[in-house]
Amino acid sequence: MTNTKKRKSIKWLIANYMSFFETFGMNEQNIRSYYQEWKIEFSDNINDFLWHIFNTLLNENAAQSNDVLGFYKRNIEIYLQMLYFRRKIEGKKANEIQNCLNRNKLELKFESTDLELNVVVSTTKDCDSCKELEGKEFPIREVIKNDVIPYENCTREQGCACVYSFKTLRDKNDVLIRKSK
Ligand SMILES: [Zn+2]
Repeated sequence: MTNTKKRKSIKWLIANYMSFFETFGMNEQNIRSYYQEWKIEFSDNINDFLWHIFNTLLNENAAQSNDVLGFYKRNIEIYLQMLYFRRKIEGKKANEIQNCLNRNKLELKFESTDLELNVVVSTTKDCDSCKELEGKEFPIREVIKNDVIPYENCTREQGCACVYSFKTLRDKNDVLIRKSK
């Protein structure tokens, strides 16, 4: 099979991703010179280089973050870009990235609230293995221990689009329940 798509260039990368890279403190000069070094050792394929940068950002974020909320927020930004790239540019399902994205949103929600929450699953009709979970509720602590969305079995053509939303819990007097420590 021949690849009729034009090979992407460093120009394409700069045009499409520079504003994202800048939010992580990189400038155009950094990216260009890093690519020059990288392609000698690995390949001149821009997609591979971009994927490498995404993974580098994840590692750096894990190594350097001092604030837990900032750590999850930055991870979410990176995984959103990774998901878009895999699905829109490469045409892959990338359910493992959807999983990472949902996981970081879940952890961020748990860390940033002092209320007790339930997780509500939102799914799509075009996935047979996920659709029975539609609207089901689970205590957030349970979902943090064990994910409830079966990402690997999702049959949706464009990739799993199931997400978690959150619901505050109230006691019998209709007062919001605070998180127990
Ligand atoms: Zn699904």
